[in-house]
Amino acid sequence: MLNGPFDDPVLFLDFLFERRAMLFDVGSVRALATRKILRISDIFVSHAHMDHFNDLDWVLRICLGRPLELRLYGPAGFIDRVEHKLAAYTWNLVRNYETDLTLHVMELHAANRALRASFRLRTGFEREQQIQLELRDGVILREAGFEVRAEILDHAVPCLGFRVDEHRHVNIWKDRLEARGLRVGPWLRTLKGAVLEDRDDSTPITAAWKEDGEIISREMSLGELRGDVLHITPGQTLAYVVDAGYTPDNRDRILRLAKGVDLFFCEAAFLDEEADRALEKRHLTARQAGILAREAGVKRFIPIHFSPRHSDHEQTLRQEAARAFEGLA
Ligand SMILES: [Zn+2]
Repeated sequence: MLNGPFDDPVLFLDFLFERRAMLFDVGSVRALATRKILRISDIFVSHAHMDHFNDLDWVLRICLGRPLELRLYGPAGFIDRVEHKLAAYTWNLVRNYETDLTLHVMELHAANRALRASFRLRTGFEREQQIQLELRDGVILREAGFEVRAEILDHAVPCLGFRVDEHRHVNIWKDRLEARGLRVGPWLRTLKGAVLEDRDDSTPITAAWKEDGEIISREMSLGELRGDVLHITPGQTLAYVVDAGYTPDNRDRILRLAKGVDLFFCEAAFLDEEADRALEKRHLTARQAGILAREAGVKRFIPIHFSPRHSDHEQTLRQEAARAFEGLA
C-alpha cells in the first residue's frame, strides 16, 4: 500500500525482475517515484470517487511524451469519466509529439460483459475503437502468467473489487545466476515467459545485461536454465476490496473474490459501534472486514482505508479487525 491507512488507498503491485507494475486505485499517488509510475501497465479503479481516481491526471502527466500503452479498468460509466478528465485539458500541440501514448479503457457492466474504448494522445485523446467485450466469470485481464478478475460490489454506486491469480510462481535463484556468471536484467522476463508458456527445453534464451556501460549477452537454452536457476512454486493470489456495504449480496461476492487468497487487502472503514452508519454509507466496519477475511480463509488479512473520522482510534480499528479475523468477536 502506497499511503497511510487514513489516506487514499492505492495498491502498487510490482513485478520482480520486470519493468512492470500494476496499480489498484489511483487516488493520491504523489508518493510514487517517477520511475515506478513509468512501469505501470494496468490501472484498476474501483470507482470514481475522488479518493480513488484523483491522480490519474498525475500518472498521465508523467507518461506524456513516452511511447506507452496504459490499460484502465473501472465500473459502468468509467469510459465517460476518463474521457471527461482528458477533455479538461488543451491538446493542440500534441500532433508534434514524436511518440504516442494510448489508453485502453474498459468498463465492466456484468460478469460476462464489458465495453472498451481507446484514446490516443496524437488525436487529442478522441474516443475511438469502442467495442463490446464478452467476458468469462468477471476475468478482465488474462496473460500467460496471471489473471485478474473483478466483482461488481454495491457502494450505492457500482464499485469493483479485484482478485489476482498468478498461475505459477517462477522464482529465480539470484545466487545461482551469479555463480554461472549471469546477471539480472530484463531478459529474465523472457525466461519467465518461456516457462509460463510451457516452451520446449531447446528454446533459445539470450541473457543480456549492462556492465560498465557495455551490453554483455550470452546464448543459452531454456533447459540449461530451468533446472538450475529456476524454482517453480504455486502462484500467489491477492484480493483488493474497498468501499462496499455489508449486504448479503456484497458478502457473497467478496467471499468469492477473496476465497483462500494469500493477501487480502480489505477496507475496514468504521468502528463496530458505527455499523449502522457504515451500512448507510455502504462501507465495511473493521469487524465485518475481519469476519469476511476469516470466512474466506485468507492467509493474510491487511485492513486498509480507515475513515478519517476514526483517526484517533487506529489501534481500536486494528484490534476489531484482528479479533474478528481470529474468530474472537
Ligand atoms: Zn473510498
